[in-house]
Amino acid sequence: MANPLAALPAVHRVLALETMGGERARYGPAAVREAVREALAGARARVARGAPIPTPEALAAEALELLTRRAAAAYPAVLNATGVVIHTNLGRAPRAGGVAPGYLALEYDLAEGTRGERLAPVVTRLVRYLGCEAATVVTNNAAALVLLLAAHAAGREVIVSRGELIEIGGSFRLPEIMAASGARLVEVGCTNRTHLEDYARVIGDATAGILVVHRSNFSLDGFVAAVGLPDLVELGRSHGVPVWVDQGSGCHLDLGRYGLRPEPTVRQIVAAGVDAVLFSGDKLLGGPQAGIVAGSRTAIAPLRRHPLRRALRPDKSALVGLAATLDCYLAERPEDVPLYRLLAAGEPSLRRRARALAARLRRAGVEAVAEATRAVLGGGTTPDQTLPSWAVTVTGGDAAAARLRRGRPPVIGRVEEGRVVLDLRAVFPEEDRMLAAAVAAALAPR
Ligand SMILES: *Cc1c(COP(=O)(O)O)cnc(C)c1O
Repeated sequence: MANPLAALPAVHRVLALETMGGERARYGPAAVREAVREALAGARARVARGAPIPTPEALAAEALELLTRRAAAAYPAVLNATGVVIHTNLGRAPRAGGVAPGYLALEYDLAEGTRGERLAPVVTRLVRYLGCEAATVVTNNAAALVLLLAAHAAGREVIVSRGELIEIGGSFRLPEIMAASGARLVEVGCTNRTHLEDYARVIGDATAGILVVHRSNFSLDGFVAAVGLPDLVELGRSHGVPVWVDQGSGCHLDLGRYGLRPEPTVRQIVAAGVDAVLFSGDKLLGGPQAGIVAGSRTAIAPLRRHPLRRALRPDKSALVGLAATLDCYLAERPEDVPLYRLLAAGEPSLRRRARALAARLRRAGVEAVAEATRAVLGGGTTPDQTLPSWAVTVTGGDAAAARLRRGRPPVIGRVEEGRVVLDLRAVFPEEDRMLAAAVAAALAPR
């Protein structure tokens, strides 16, 4: 009996089809050849299990489908209807300030025609905005902490309260970050309570600094005690030991305006006299991914000289975006930062939008209702608090959520009790039409 696999069309026969000429021009000859080989490999497996021999045209169509799928946007823009405003998996804060694709005066002094200082424009803005002596910027906050510890505490001790030894998503675990940067962790206090004497007792010749860490994604309640920054700063000064604050989300405005519990702002932390404060660019600042260190000249200068710094250098688009974001704060127009535009949306306007959206979807044949919901800030900020919001909910559970994710643009909602909740807190009003169209296209009966 003849081997049925021998009857499979050869790669060159599929490639010789007239339609493949256009695909070669679009995707490149090597990619087309590879796609045909993959389609053939799939066919071979099916034929071995008894499926009929496919025609060259069928194999070409299969290869084309592979090519189109691969050519789809690497990072498609999505509509964030999750109700999580700073969603790490969806790129954290929507950023102010666009990308910088072309040439720009990045490290170039236009007046002199000589090499300029790459970070100078953002550093001058940070110094003015935060009221600090000096500042620097690296790729993200985790990198900022590594650099700070490597520059100031390698082979020496850093004191941290046991109530602040956090793990953030991914692989950020404070004790491990400290070990990786060569600092020795000295834990003080208990999980729920740490006192000034706990710090005072362990300060010695080997102490490089005291590190205070924002709890970010969890909160402590009940019988708790922590030391206030002014007391720690005084303790540090009296022993000649610097105090550093990893503020993580880095608050910039009175969160009370948005119905959240207020937190000290980065400016206030600087004013409390700490040696350095570290925070992310893409959490509460509402800018691009970046790690910002602000503080005294003594704290910042060794960071600028450290060899690791070159490895942690932010990209030009991040610097352009960061400068644009800082300009919003300097001009006292935080509402120009997209994140705060989302947070400032009042309940009545969210309700109005949700009702209009639901009505539009019902007209398209989708079973949709407007409902009051609670959204969250997310991104390791305000973990135990929620924001009032409104959503459109549709039926269909996981299957409907999956169809929405495959839509154009993809719509990401959350599934609750068999329904998909499309929360409007992180959707900009100008996206409502697009949201309605994408939901109708994905879910309307045909
Ligand atoms: C989020 C966070 C980090 C990590 O910041 P990235 O910018 O994501 O690297 C570090 N420390 C704290 C306290 C945080 O909340």
